[in-house]
Amino acid sequence: MSLVHPGGLLHIELPLSPSTVEEIAEWRQPVPLHLVLSEPRDYPLLYRCTALLDHCPVRVAIPLIAGFARAVRLAASLDLPVKLDLVPPPPQLIDELVDVLDLYLHRSTVAQPIEPFHSSLLAFFHQEPLTLWSIQEEDPALFRVVAENGDERLPGRLASERSSPGSGDFLDVWRGGLLAEQGECASCPHFDYCGGYFKWPDRSFSCIGVRTLFDRLSLAAAELRHDLAAFSSEGVEDSR
Ligand code: SF4
Repeated sequence: MSLVHPGGLLHIELPLSPSTVEEIAEWRQPVPLHLVLSEPRDYPLLYRCTALLDHCPVRVAIPLIAGFARAVRLAASLDLPVKLDLVPPPPQLIDELVDVLDLYLHRSTVAQPIEPFHSSLLAFFHQEPLTLWSIQEEDPALFRVVAENGDERLPGRLASERSSPGSGDFLDVWRGGLLAEQGECASCPHFDYCGGYFKWPDRSFSCIGVRTLFDRLSLAAAELRHDLAAFSSEGVEDSR
């Protein structure tokens, strides 16, 4: 399968498992790969994939299954960009998500993006709304998945929806509905950066846990802006 957007092909998606790893390790095309590690406990397979970085961009997709943080840590230590396959997380996975966020924010050895945290942090830093729907490549106005036989479907969690690919008003309708019903999203300070992502497909999902992730990202971005401003003013003082 491939993920495409108006600019063209973004990547080819391949499942990474014990039965596919040897074939993947032989990949030599200069086409970006998105390796889906659907069983995070198979994370030692990532060692076999590092040589791919000599030939093409590689990103590892890791689902939120208990123990996923170990896979993220190894991918990060191998300089492999990571994309967490987000779903509304059960409460028992919030601590693991916080661990991964702390790894991304505070571990100086992490040189590659861990999404969605990387793009969300930049959005908070620049105070430019960018929702998880875009970061997670699930905005149906921008992204679509193309199968080998040419069939197209909506991206990510919308895959089973019947709307035609490219349905441009899906997110406007979704967000408008959430605001109109005056539920948790209507009073959420992070709506511009989330877009009601965690209320899909279950609007009754409680966001207490995931809001702490946004709180941390927002705080980290504010600290970065403060540090940058202090650094700039020190530079001005020094130059006088
Ligand atoms: S309440 Fe939840 S789904 Fe709604 S914007 Fe906030 S974090 Fe996102």
